[in-house]
Amino acid sequence: MAVTLGVVREDVPNERRVAMTPEVAKKLKAAGVDVVIAAAAGERAGYGDAAWAGVATVVPGNAEVYAAADLVFAVQPPAPESIVQLREGAGWIGLLAPHADPGRVKALRDRNITAFAMELLPRTTRAQAMDVLSSQAGMAGYKAVLIAAQASPKFFPMLTTAAGTIRPAKVLVIGAGVAGLQAIATARRLGAQVEGFDVRPEVREQIQSLGAKFLDLGVSAAGSGGYARELTAEERAEQQRRLGEHVKGVDVIVTTAAVPGRPAPKIITRAMVEGMRRGSVIVDLAAETGGNCEATRAGETVDVGGVAVIGPVNLPSMGAAHASDMYAKNLMNFAMLLLKDGAVALDFDDDLVAGTCLTHAGTIRHEPTRKLVEGA
Ligand code: NAD
Repeated sequence: MAVTLGVVREDVPNERRVAMTPEVAKKLKAAGVDVVIAAAAGERAGYGDAAWAGVATVVPGNAEVYAAADLVFAVQPPAPESIVQLREGAGWIGLLAPHADPGRVKALRDRNITAFAMELLPRTTRAQAMDVLSSQAGMAGYKAVLIAAQASPKFFPMLTTAAGTIRPAKVLVIGAGVAGLQAIATARRLGAQVEGFDVRPEVREQIQSLGAKFLDLGVSAAGSGGYARELTAEERAEQQRRLGEHVKGVDVIVTTAAVPGRPAPKIITRAMVEGMRRGSVIVDLAAETGGNCEATRAGETVDVGGVAVIGPVNLPSMGAAHASDMYAKNLMNFAMLLLKDGAVALDFDDDLVAGTCLTHAGTIRHEPTRKLVEGA
């Protein structure tokens, strides 16, 4: 019997993405997979129910998806009431915030779900086409700069006008991972004068190749697996002192700094914000994990002496069409690792399958020992 893959309608407020596209459904169908999708699941990403004709079966809601699915594709983690509706032993692939909610992990285990948390995907070359953190971070970095440009009272580009010459806005991007590099590229395309900063020294060339300047604050914290490690107290103090001086001259800061499994590093203090010029803008991409700026409040814009500190949440959802296209392709590429001859066949000798698997056969394979957000 063919594998039935279910796609949920995301029920988290403000989540517009969908974990499937008609193009991906067509490819899965060709691979012998039956796709079942909840009505209106794709609407907010630009795919009405008619878009699934011939490639997926539209069912009334998530309850029908859960009842039918051997494997579920989703963006957001399931609510407790959804987990108990899943077929025992079914599979789930999506973002599961494994460090944020140990209760959810236990509920998945207790329902005997084989859950794959895409955040845990090892970041190897082979995994790149499945890497949802990268694809979604790209959209987040792009939108963050557009939000900053919108909020700023200045032009980003240099302009020579009859009323005089306008100097380009100075944009500083802190954290030059996937989101940060996309933010740098976007700010450059808008004509701003851009600087990038990261504690990993190897990103210097990547920043420069985008036409931006590397801001050298004399601190390096290269960690393992391409990620940063946490800074020591002395390193942090030195970084803060130099940064505090520097931000007095910038118009826009976009912060994207993260250390996996840890609360967001606090980089911009309230005193630094107070030292910035009126009309300056900070967009804090780390708002959801505690913020890179002390003044950030998730989902809000805070005014600190005329400086707007913006803490957007779920930026990839703002670009739901392309974010969903990339996300669905990532999940399909991952699911292909789990399907052999039209059936689910788990190969735990595959480092990507083993590394991403959170729960399987009534056990937790990856202990959610670290909390992403304190108190969560
Ligand atoms: P991330 O979201 O975990 O972190 C964002 C950035 O914040 C990182 O560049 C990090 O160095 C930086 N940072 C952390 N603490 C900081 C501090 N105190 N001050 C300034 N910056 C700080 O990272 P990400 O974007 O998901 O990935 C980081 C890197 O991992 C990528 O740039 C890439 O090199 C590597 N990567 C590899 C693959 C792959 O090979 N499959 C896929 C994705 C990413």
